[in-house]
Amino acid sequence: MTDSITLTIDGNPVQAAPGTTILKAAASVGIEIPTICYHDYCTSNALCRLCVVEVEGARTLVPSCVAKISEGMQVSTHTERVKRARRTILEMLATTVDLSEAPDIQAYMREYGARDERFPEAEQRISPVLDDNPMYIRDYSKCVLCWRCVQVCAEDAQYTYAINFTGRGFETQIGTFFEKPLPETTCVFCGQCVAVCPTNALKPKRQWLLEQGRSPDEIMSLTRSERRRRMRREAAAEQPATGGKS
Ligand code: SF4
Repeated sequence: MTDSITLTIDGNPVQAAPGTTILKAAASVGIEIPTICYHDYCTSNALCRLCVVEVEGARTLVPSCVAKISEGMQVSTHTERVKRARRTILEMLATTVDLSEAPDIQAYMREYGARDERFPEAEQRISPVLDDNPMYIRDYSKCVLCWRCVQVCAEDAQYTYAINFTGRGFETQIGTFFEKPLPETTCVFCGQCVAVCPTNALKPKRQWLLEQGRSPDEIMSLTRSERRRRMRREAAAEQPATGGKS
């Protein structure tokens, strides 16, 4: 088996090991391809499609975060067709999702000349902020469904499976099973989902309360009393049933 594959990316000869993705091969020669759902420590699923590139001979654009290199492949990462596809993806996202706290995506919008008013008739996906635990809030109006949080909660890191996709089509969002509050799920509040979220849809509770104008003292007492309540609930749930006898 060959231990090196030769291809060209944007006219540059590139050598990389078999199994390397186009995204990684491009990065190895300093060519940056934009991504949203991709994260170095999460499994790639080609969900956002922002990383698409043109591969000579391929009928459709190819998601570079999952497509593997092959011998003699000719890849173009910034053709007009590619840029138009990325611009349209960004415009559709900006139409349906609140990207006000997604600086990387905003930077891409500027780079690709994406206009957030491109689809004025489109409906925005609006959800109430979910504030059901002392550690973090969930604001799914800001969620781009990148799936990073679901993956770190599952096989990519934590193996707790507290969250997943719920709903279908336009109604799709991230949620818990049977929409239970997080303290009633398997969530261990490790914070890894918050760390990988690219849009601030998941945010530490204390940061969120500060933004709401609460003082540090208020925040401390609020989150502490919530935590105490949670610990009491957990202790009560662990008590063996006595059948009313002591
Ligand atoms: S909550 Fe954040 S990490 Fe999870 S899918 Fe939405 S944008 Fe991605």
